[in-house]
Amino acid sequence: MELLKVSGIIIALLLLPFTSAFAPFQNHRCTSYSTQQYKMSKDSSENNDDERAEALEKAVKAMTNFSNKYCENTGTKYCSDKSVPAVVIQGLAEHKVTLGAPLCPCRYYDDKEKEAKDGYWNCPCVPMRERRECHCMLFLTDDNAFVGEETHITEEEVKELTQTSLLG
Ligand code: SF4
Repeated sequence: MELLKVSGIIIALLLLPFTSAFAPFQNHRCTSYSTQQYKMSKDSSENNDDERAEALEKAVKAMTNFSNKYCENTGTKYCSDKSVPAVVIQGLAEHKVTLGAPLCPCRYYDDKEKEAKDGYWNCPCVPMRERRECHCMLFLTDDNAFVGEETHITEEEVKELTQTSLLG
């Protein structure tokens, strides 16, 4: 009889992890694991945001320098409203980060990755290189009604003018 009691207790102990009495402990373990997982994924998404912001900053700098140099080399000028080149440069920089190439930001594409690989619309695009035609109005020739006097824009202007245009 005593032996039966002891065996019953042993079996009950063995089954404990699978009974509802054990559930709070299991839940606790799951909860703390999820919290940890959530924290890790939050940290990693913050890191990704930081990396993306840094990459975008570098790309804005690169595209601003490229545009200033290209204006000089081709004898073109920026629009009298500098928010136009600022928005285009920002768009080129975003494509440089997301696609690895400065795909023209003023067009619609069914498949941006394919277009970026193709290269026809990577800035300076083929129409610009062949005929000095920039439909984004980034590089304007003297006969354009909207041409300004300047061939230089700073990164600060790009940031400031794109923020203003996004907000307003
Ligand atoms: Fe560059 Fe051509 Fe777009 Fe002008 S139209 S911003 S040159 S890709």
